[in-house]
Amino acid sequence: MNKNYDYVLVGAGFYCSIIAERIANDLGKKVLIVEKRNHIGGNCFSETNIETGIEFHKYGTHIFHTSNKKVWEYISNFTTFNSYYHQVLITYNSKVYQMPINLETINSFYNINLKPFEVDDFLEQEFKKESYTNPKNFEEQAINIIGRPLYDAFIKGYTIKQWGRDPKDLPASIIKRLPFRKNYSESYFFDTYQGIPTDGFTAIFDKLLASNNIDIQLNTDFFEIKEQLNSSATIIYSGSIDRLLDYRFGELDYRTLDFEFEVVNYEDFQGTSVMNYGNQKIPYTRIHEPKHLHPERTYNLDKTLIIKEYSKEANREEPYYPIGGEVNKSLYTKYLKEVKKVYPNLIIGGRLGDYKYYDMHHVIENALDTYNNLIKKGC
Ligand code: UDP
Repeated sequence: MNKNYDYVLVGAGFYCSIIAERIANDLGKKVLIVEKRNHIGGNCFSETNIETGIEFHKYGTHIFHTSNKKVWEYISNFTTFNSYYHQVLITYNSKVYQMPINLETINSFYNINLKPFEVDDFLEQEFKKESYTNPKNFEEQAINIIGRPLYDAFIKGYTIKQWGRDPKDLPASIIKRLPFRKNYSESYFFDTYQGIPTDGFTAIFDKLLASNNIDIQLNTDFFEIKEQLNSSATIIYSGSIDRLLDYRFGELDYRTLDFEFEVVNYEDFQGTSVMNYGNQKIPYTRIHEPKHLHPERTYNLDKTLIIKEYSKEANREEPYYPIGGEVNKSLYTKYLKEVKKVYPNLIIGGRLGDYKYYDMHHVIENALDTYNNLIKKGC
């Protein structure tokens, strides 16, 4: 049966689901999706907690955001979005601050009352004590942006927990994801479009994969069925590249996450969807409270679901975050060259496949580009 497909997609996250949707509906061809987990949606999967009826994101809070009109228009064919606007808070030494660091965070942390135009001069005093001409790593880059005291409070402990490494051994690029504001803006993202899918993320995947041209095999490991496939089938693979070649050159570094779910007897536990924890001695990085992701829904409950997030080394299980850095990058390049030799009909992509710290909108854009530039043109 597996021999009948000209296109086999590995993984049912955004990358493969979008390519499958395009092949099925635009090219009108049949595809097979092979997914190891027991559900579609990849790490964006959402479901309902039975005890409370609260919809939650099983693999951590996902906020859709983009400034890319093409991506927005495409995804809007499959969902509407609510008006949720992402704001994050961080607890440090039992006090709550705004995150990303903005003027409120600075004033509250230093117990001062700066105006926006005074921030640069104020931080200049910190930079005189410590700054780096050519920041070589995460720590130096972060100190160059906010100075040592804010870094120590809000970034260092969280980052050590998140990445399990000394921030001096992490690439500077990671901190560039995090905005720094000299005004009172509390928005985590500055994108033109953002929100949570009105019916949750999984409903998007149900629609993306609704065509009769799409067959899905859940609970199926690609490596166990690959010999049964048509040898000329195009494989679109969104798993990790080192796994694809059975780790022959060694393992790339990834972090994975553990989640601890708990229903607590409060109508509202923390007053916001995501609370980060800056202190290293608190073992989790953040607590999610998914009730707040859908302000348009009425839950009418004196209970709420909370989810504690812990980060750990992936060791071949469920990689989430590519760690990056020069050593990993060159290992990735070595793998990519080999993949082209071993699997001439294979297209690789997505956060794991490209080994890049993508957001959802990047993955959607890449999937559309892969379809339009490679698959549709028959490359
Ligand atoms: N970060 C931090 N403190 C915070 C939030 C983020 O130090 O309160 C750092 C941390 O190293 C993290 C990076 O900034 O990995 C990127 O944060 P982002 O919110 O983009 O992480 P994600 O939501 O993708 O896990």
